[in-house]
Amino acid sequence: MNVAQPVVRTIGHFIAGRAVEPAIDSRRGPVFNPATGAISAEVLLGDASIVDTAVTAALAAFGKWSETSSLNRARVMFRFKELLNRHHDELARLITLEHGKVLSDARGEVMRGIEVVEFACGAPQLLKTQFSDNIGGGIDNFSLRQPLGVCAGITPFNFPAMVPMWMFPLALVCGNTFVLKPSERDPSASMRIAELLTEAGLPDGAFNVVHGDKEAVDALLVHPGVAAISFVGSTPIAEYIHLEAVKRGKRVQALGGAKNHLVVMPDADLDHAADALIGAAYGSAGERCMAISIGVAVGHVADELVAKLKERIPRLRIKDGLEADADMGPVVTETHRQKILGYIEDGIAGGAVLEADGRRQAVPDRDEGFYLGATLFDHVVPGMKIYDEEIFGPVLGIVRVADFAAAVELINGHEFANGVSCYTTDGATAREFARRIEVGMVGINVPIPVPMAFHSFGGWKRSLFGDHHVYGEEGVRFYTRYKSVMQRWPDAAASKGPEFTMPVNK
Ligand code: NAD
Repeated sequence: MNVAQPVVRTIGHFIAGRAVEPAIDSRRGPVFNPATGAISAEVLLGDASIVDTAVTAALAAFGKWSETSSLNRARVMFRFKELLNRHHDELARLITLEHGKVLSDARGEVMRGIEVVEFACGAPQLLKTQFSDNIGGGIDNFSLRQPLGVCAGITPFNFPAMVPMWMFPLALVCGNTFVLKPSERDPSASMRIAELLTEAGLPDGAFNVVHGDKEAVDALLVHPGVAAISFVGSTPIAEYIHLEAVKRGKRVQALGGAKNHLVVMPDADLDHAADALIGAAYGSAGERCMAISIGVAVGHVADELVAKLKERIPRLRIKDGLEADADMGPVVTETHRQKILGYIEDGIAGGAVLEADGRRQAVPDRDEGFYLGATLFDHVVPGMKIYDEEIFGPVLGIVRVADFAAAVELINGHEFANGVSCYTTDGATAREFARRIEVGMVGINVPIPVPMAFHSFGGWKRSLFGDHHVYGEEGVRFYTRYKSVMQRWPDAAASKGPEFTMPVNK
């Protein structure tokens, strides 16, 4: 007997101001609701031809958009910000339905994106440059920051609204046009964002969305019309994107994975530190590049710290992220759940002590959802896979070290260097930590030190490939080319004829 399959909606591309109708033979991928395990939609997986259509639309829009005054570009962002405020809850819900994170966290993600839009609204000020009057012989020297052309953004599943908003608001107000290739696992938020940008008055073609996987990404990497690529995702792909883009002369920033440590000094307030560890390790089911996955217990604090964590773990409310009191939702896919389970098995086999086991997590009425409970390992050491590799799930490891110097040495020895935190009540320790630690983003008694929109975000070492962090002033630099202009308006009578020596001020 043939059982009819339920028809699910198709999520298509968004090019030149409108959604693109899917061709019958288009490749597609499933989009899940992680809370129930059901397939909620199919997303088109674009090929080189659809990427070319999007880049061509972006190139066509570039001329006029780049000539639009920065004031008027900023005005589009002001209207976009108002629309984001109005649709804040709707966007958060879209995120929860495809990513699984709890609604309050999804709202926070949208807010952090809005803050970058607010920063981008200052474009006329941000693009102001320098002018040196009369540097000699009636000549003035000034600088310009000009747009690059078509910029592409390739983004991960874990922040389907915020990470694209780290990129395109600044790229657009700097005068570029944009092609976004969001994660194929939660593609709906980017489609709604594209519609809102159009409603805000952004010209057709200035912002386009192409869905897809490696095939679409590779097409962006080789397309001669793409001037710059911003990537956020895992380290192996970040490294690949960086190398391939550089080979083709494209500007590139590629942010990769993480293994973030939180140091608990003997003088720290242990309740404060334990709360911070619980929130930062298990919030968003550990699927944050700034999640804390290693607690570093210094000196005598380890036993008491582990006891406090074990007290708190059973209190976590793990459920469908749409439920108002949920603390932690499911992970993004069953495949990812299996990968995390593999790491937990590995931790046990490797000799770490399992203090809380999240492998079997029952959620009433959600038997097929992709849930895991909070897992805690003690006595983790370098060399174990659960220490060396990014798990990207609700698994926290505790490493015990003797003193502050050993904590710093441990962290500086890790290949990832995205975020880090130190809990202490001693100012000198805090200052020393912030100065000596070789990590891009540092928190002092702050577990997840994600910089504000008017600073810049980025890690060091194998957490970032390229020269620029994202958003803030670094973002303005990344999305513009610096040009220096020397100008003179000579008096013909004063001409001295050809000059053959390097002009200098005598
Ligand atoms: P991912 O690397 O699997 O995917 C990121 C993007 O790359 C997606 O758009 C995906 O379609 C594309 N992609 C995947 N495989 C590819 C391939 N072989 N060739 C070309 N493109 C490919 O990452 P993810 O699982 O979506 O996201 C989680 C990862 O992102 C974690 O490692 C996390 O630490 C990292 N992340 C980093 C930051 C940061 O700021 N450093 C922020 C968020 C997430």
